[in-house]
Amino acid sequence: MIIPPLEPEHAPTRVLYVAGMGRSGSTLVERAIAQLPGATGVGEVVFLWDRGLRRDERCGCGERFSACSFWQRVGKAGFGGWDQVDPDEMTALAEEVDDLRDIGQLAGPIVTRRFRARQRRYLEHYERLYDAIREVAGCDVVVDTSKLTSLAYSLRRAEHIDLRVLQLVRDPRAVAYSWTKTIRRPEVLDREAYMPTYRPSYMAALWSGHNALLELLPRLGTPTERLRYEDFVDDPLASLRRVAELAGLDVSGDALDFVSDSGLDLGVVHTVSGNPSRFTTGRVSLRRDDAWRAELPASARRVVTALTWPGRRAYGYDATAEHRAEASGHQDPVPSQRPQALPEPTVWPSVGVVLVTHDRPALMRRALASIRSQDYPGRLEVRVVFDRAEPDQTLHTDADDRPVRVGVNTRTPGLCGARNTGVLDLDADLIAFCDDDDTWEPGKLRRQVAALEAEPDAVLATTAMVVDVDGRSVARTCGTDRVRLEQLLRSRLAMLHSSSFLARRNLVTATGLVDESLPRSMAEDWELLLRAATRAPIVHVDEPLVRVQWGVSSHFVHRWVDKNEAHRTLLARYPAMTRDRVAAGLMAGKLAFGHAALGERRAAWRYIARSARANWREPRWVLASAVALRLVSADRVMTELTRRGHGI
Ligand SMILES: [Zn+2]
Repeated sequence: MIIPPLEPEHAPTRVLYVAGMGRSGSTLVERAIAQLPGATGVGEVVFLWDRGLRRDERCGCGERFSACSFWQRVGKAGFGGWDQVDPDEMTALAEEVDDLRDIGQLAGPIVTRRFRARQRRYLEHYERLYDAIREVAGCDVVVDTSKLTSLAYSLRRAEHIDLRVLQLVRDPRAVAYSWTKTIRRPEVLDREAYMPTYRPSYMAALWSGHNALLELLPRLGTPTERLRYEDFVDDPLASLRRVAELAGLDVSGDALDFVSDSGLDLGVVHTVSGNPSRFTTGRVSLRRDDAWRAELPASARRVVTALTWPGRRAYGYDATAEHRAEASGHQDPVPSQRPQALPEPTVWPSVGVVLVTHDRPALMRRALASIRSQDYPGRLEVRVVFDRAEPDQTLHTDADDRPVRVGVNTRTPGLCGARNTGVLDLDADLIAFCDDDDTWEPGKLRRQVAALEAEPDAVLATTAMVVDVDGRSVARTCGTDRVRLEQLLRSRLAMLHSSSFLARRNLVTATGLVDESLPRSMAEDWELLLRAATRAPIVHVDEPLVRVQWGVSSHFVHRWVDKNEAHRTLLARYPAMTRDRVAAGLMAGKLAFGHAALGERRAAWRYIARSARANWREPRWVLASAVALRLVSADRVMTELTRRGHGI
């Protein structure tokens, strides 16, 4: 079965490709477009090879594919008969060259020779198919509603296709809700078949990812228009005029007479696959379907709202009220297994606290006061370490059980060296950290020491936190009282803040408590958590006992170069991060965002591809895409995340 490619001088077929998420109303939009003079709608062409050729499902006209005279004529005109086409080959080719996991090759400048050759073979089928449809239907424009983002990327490389893309968007909550419903597929005749259902969080991630990638198309030179389904329903005439302009169709005269106030007059179409409503003919009324507002559960709505905010903002699906509700929520990596009540030790160990400060005397005094007023029965000693700043000796006190000593950082300048200076200068059983802009709740040490002492193998204990940001407080708990290495490889678990760290001395003496080699003290607390967790699970008191100040101007936020380098160091040091798909997706996502923030788009896209391939549901590659595409600035993303008590 050798199908020769079209001659180079063969005129390209103009194809209007409708892209976007399924259940975005594309069937109705397509059928409206198909009524435009000069256009022919053929449904979701991507499924023709399997559902039409292999399974012989029903065409939009009601006939089986093999009995539909339109498609039989197309097969003859394009390929000399459908028996000349091997659907298995098309399935194999699609898996190889038409999959978003290969977005690097589909969108990026780096394409292997093999990929190029296989893609050529794949596209020759589409070129012949569209050409035959144009010939049989006698139309100017073929309308394909396959919707797949990957296929849009593939088709733009076809020589004989003049591609125009209509990016159809719909409120992600309506889309997510629709995918939770069970819908029968009437085109399947020999059995009961249903369209698949998906979880709202999954659909939300896809919605963000696909729309972000579709935004890139016009920047790569493909004529693209965005149409909101809601706008189409509200004003179909204006919407169709815009679409006609994109497709190069003339809609003067009575071309749009099938549109009226009460809806659309629809005729028969030969669509190979799509929503069940494609079998409806006659008058179809247009209305917004807002069932999701009543039916989509609040928790699902929060998740969808959170996962789609960059796109929603860009497309005008605002949700200020839901934003606020979402801000009070948090993610639960692991459900809590046991209550926190623990017996208290008979002898309370001594605790040494390292309080590193740079140049914020008022904040530092507040932090110091919260440490010294701890409701803790044992001995408590504080080292205030001034990092690159004049030490304030007036803080010094020899008070019996709560002495305070003042010193300067004698090691590597920066947070890590300053912490180690304090650690090495202390002679306590347990070592705790507090940053100068954070404070401890009065019961912090007592609860935490009791929990750590009950677990002799553990070397590090943490607590949950309250984040103060923008005049609001967000509690960040983690839903567990033990944090294991696997969890930490897969997530930084930002609620385990360094101002809550309480370590046994032996974690200090062996290797040095804090890694000073990480650039500018980036990710050093994550590194310490990982190091501690390789020895034993971290004991976690899941109560917000530490109050953390997050400013939008926090001095670590913008140092993306150092962040990227630190993350690469972590990857090299913990190879398990590249073996685990979720961890690999996370790290690549972090690096993607870091490079996107720096405007290093080539590197950003490389990591976006890597992250998406490792873990499709990793939200960071979506955010990185949005930044790389300049839909939203990195600072804006960080501000939004910070407001919710999250980092990137
Ligand atoms: Zn038909």
